Amino acid sequence: MFFTKMLIPTLREAPSDADIISAKLMIRAGMIRKLASGFYEFLPLGLKVLKKVESIIREEMNAVGGQEISLPLVFPKDLWIETGRWNTYGKELFKLKDRKEVEFCLAPTAEEAVTDLVRKEIKSYKQLPLMLYQFGSKFRDEIRPRFGVMRVKEFLMKDAYSFHVDESDLERYYKVMFDAYTNVCKKCGFKFRAVEAASCAIGGSFSHEFMILAETGEEEIAWCNCGYGANSEKAECLSIYQLKEEPLPLEEALAPNVEAVAKFLEIFQKKFIKTMIYKADGNPIIILVRGDHEINEIKLQILLDTDDIVLVDEQATVFSIVNSSLVFVDLVGHRDVKIIADLSVVEISNAVTEANKKGYHLKNINYSRDYSVDIVADIRKVVHGDICPKCKKENLKFSRGIEIGHVFKLGTKYSKSMNATYLDANGKENFIVMGCYGIGVTRILAATIEQSHDDNGIVWTDNMAPFNVVVIPVNYADAKIKEVTDKLYKELTSEGIDVLVDDRDERVGIKFKDADLIGIPYRITIGEKNLEKGHVELKARRDDKESVKLLSPQESSSEIIKIFNK
Ligand code: ATP
Ligand code: MG
Repeated sequence: MFFTKMLIPTLREAPSDADIISAKLMIRAGMIRKLASGFYEFLPLGLKVLKKVESIIREEMNAVGGQEISLPLVFPKDLWIETGRWNTYGKELFKLKDRKEVEFCLAPTAEEAVTDLVRKEIKSYKQLPLMLYQFGSKFRDEIRPRFGVMRVKEFLMKDAYSFHVDESDLERYYKVMFDAYTNVCKKCGFKFRAVEAASCAIGGSFSHEFMILAETGEEEIAWCNCGYGANSEKAECLSIYQLKEEPLPLEEALAPNVEAVAKFLEIFQKKFIKTMIYKADGNPIIILVRGDHEINEIKLQILLDTDDIVLVDEQATVFSIVNSSLVFVDLVGHRDVKIIADLSVVEISNAVTEANKKGYHLKNINYSRDYSVDIVADIRKVVHGDICPKCKKENLKFSRGIEIGHVFKLGTKYSKSMNATYLDANGKENFIVMGCYGIGVTRILAATIEQSHDDNGIVWTDNMAPFNVVVIPVNYADAKIKEVTDKLYKELTSEGIDVLVDDRDERVGIKFKDADLIGIPYRITIGEKNLEKGHVELKARRDDKESVKLLSPQESSSEIIKIFNK
């Protein structure tokens, strides 16, 4: 391809609303343009990279027996009513009507559509297992689209769905898909971690997220050298051993003044029991966590098997539930409302809490002697200083990550609600057991750049780069230079190498700047002086300025062919 024939509108400056480096570089390199908030256009260069990522993923999906399909982007409401998700999916679901007022949604994911296909076409155990996948646009009305194509309202996803006779076959295949995702990450050259993720009550039983390590990541990962890794939303908290003290008599003490309370909490917050009121499915519950801890609502959702939990924070509502005018109520005397305590709360000796009398604290509260609860469970967010739940030796470490892929064991959630069954060898009808596996193709581009760039621009891996090599004639109008350039181009392309020739009538400095910005892994420069000695320059984008090799045109093309046609 010749630069002058391709739409590559590079920019010196990124627009002011480009908020992270990958967004800036993708726009400056002429890969994408913004159409509206959350909607981006992919220009030829951007689309080329997207296609390369697509083919890396496709290769892995085919290798694990996947069959590629293509589902519509618009789904009928009826299917979403069957699974209940028409109402529970929330505001991210784009809904629309046709001219007859029939309702539809734009695909945010495709479990309903693919389960509908499978329930119609699969009848017997002999047709299982089955894995279907597609590359398709997904639409989500994100509340805050940002970070370029990292979080948008329309993006390209590879979504895959597997169908099995039983849980154990799903278990087997889940591992196969886990490995396939690992291969995709390796081929993309990522520094990554696959971590345990929280599957909400509605999402199925078990899942892993593939996280690209990057400071700009929206997710936090808790991990340990022993191999444990989890999204910090999910990370398990062990009860923290507290120094056991002799239980002292329970007393009601006048609470200190505001400054003293602050001081008091600073020192004693580990002894303080925070009391909060939630409503789960509309029913009040009292939640107890240690003063220095926060409630993890996702853990609470999973524990209570509902996604309908809300913190009750208005005094009037609290009052109506626990008959108190205080937000923090005392623990004693509210046995008509279910109490759930975090593991580390019940460990506290001689704890302190706000009394149900304004201006007073209760001191020396001890679990079982002074209060009891209905459930003791891990319901808090992991914090620095928490011990690894796997090896129980080292403290957890924390890193930021970008989620690029997610693998789920769905079980029979969708097959039950949509009645997708098969007949086993005995002619008995069973629900099909499912897995689903998503990977954000668009987001992979942004994540790659977050991990792989320098002051001059993007540094693509050989696998993902829009072109394998850029050939820069210092002056394409010069007959001799043109002849060598054209010959090199022909030779390389005939070997399947993807070549960009920068044939623009621009200063060589500008051509170098753009080549670095776009991030093409290799650059061959053809200049008059070197050519007189029979040389061209070969340089790798990853290497510094000094590492230029002087080679004959023939040698330079052999070297490139050797690299890419291994
Ligand atoms: P997130 O927590 O980032 O919103 P998610 O859990 O909603 O992601 P999934 O439903 O698991 O995402 O979708 C699979 C993949 O699709 C994600 O791993 C991510 O790579 C990509 N993805 C999800 N939402 C977006 C978005 N708004 N823009 C771009 N890519 C996205
Ligand atoms: Mg999301």
